[in-house]
Amino acid sequence: MPATPTDPQTAPSAREVTTAAADALRRSAAALLLDVREPSEREVVHIPGSLHIPLGQLHQLAGLFLPDPARPIVAFCAVGVRSLRAASTLTAMGYADVVSMAGGIEAWQREGRDASGTDGLTPVQRQRYSRHLLIPEVGPGGQARLLASRVLLVGAGGLGSPAALYLAAAGVGTLGIVDFDVVDLSNLQRQVLHTTDRVGEPKVASAARTIGALNPDVRVVAHELLLGADNAAEVIAGYDVVIDGTDSFETRYTLNDAAVAAGIPVVHASVYRFEGQLTVFVPGGGPCYRCLYPSAPPPELAPNCSAVGVLGVVPGIMGLLQANEAIKLLLRVGTPLVGRLLLFDALDGEFRELEIRRDPACPVCAGVPGTPSAGASTAAAPLPASTRAPGA
Ligand SMILES: [Zn+2]
Repeated sequence: MPATPTDPQTAPSAREVTTAAADALRRSAAALLLDVREPSEREVVHIPGSLHIPLGQLHQLAGLFLPDPARPIVAFCAVGVRSLRAASTLTAMGYADVVSMAGGIEAWQREGRDASGTDGLTPVQRQRYSRHLLIPEVGPGGQARLLASRVLLVGAGGLGSPAALYLAAAGVGTLGIVDFDVVDLSNLQRQVLHTTDRVGEPKVASAARTIGALNPDVRVVAHELLLGADNAAEVIAGYDVVIDGTDSFETRYTLNDAAVAAGIPVVHASVYRFEGQLTVFVPGGGPCYRCLYPSAPPPELAPNCSAVGVLGVVPGIMGLLQANEAIKLLLRVGTPLVGRLLLFDALDGEFRELEIRRDPACPVCAGVPGTPSAGASTAAAPLPASTRAPGA
């Protein structure tokens, strides 16, 4: 009985050729290159002109796709182990001239040989982002897009921490971080970018260290400052998406006005004790922050979380939803939360959604072209009590 490819006792004894020899055979059409990897691996990268039969299907499919037993075959896989088995199997099935390519397609790529479907990702990146590459909506092209993207996080606190961690893990290539504060012991209950030994350290420095350790693909741009009307336009310039993790109405208005002027989408969230809310402001595509809140409420109606408290996981959840919206915008997939205010109640474990509309009289975005605001006769949808309170 011929050796089966799944038999762990099989000692592969096939001949090997170098990648250079395999490449020469391919170019001269003297041999057929046979890819024996799994379909998901082949989708990431393949050698042009190669035939694909996964190792586990050789017995069933070889007769169909390899009708000429005399034709020379060079089998290859990722690193050259499975292809040894494939060569043994095919030889046992009667194929006269089968060899295995030593080092596999990983060696082939390291040497810069002709490969398709890589979109500029390195072998290490293909491994790091392999679960993204398997999703049709992301794939190598989407991952390359994420790596080329720039997201600005305003605030490295309760919302910015989880958002930054997951955007960094996802391979968003540039993360700008705006924060003027230092790490305080009372931050660590929710601001998971920072650690106990960094109390007293600037948050932007702490964030850069954490992100650098998580993913060296990510470049962190530290903006150690308080975002204000005098610097907002300069700070946000060049970013694709802004994540609003601020905790004051004043900073939100400043950020909103600069983002509308620059045409940059803002993913907004705020939290209050057990409640959170989330929406996406796309200039011209829906309401802006001033459409939602034409004026700041008096301070007694809008205490921040240092005054009223917040359950630590609530900004964690809302910050991750912000990261999710940002990635959707960057990849241009799904339906962004534009014109929709998502409300989360941690105690009930419930999400609700309110429609929000552009204010035709909005002093900031009324003149911005985009989706007509016809029918938006009211300035904003009725707001629940929780939406009056910011905090991060
Ligand atoms: Zn507006």
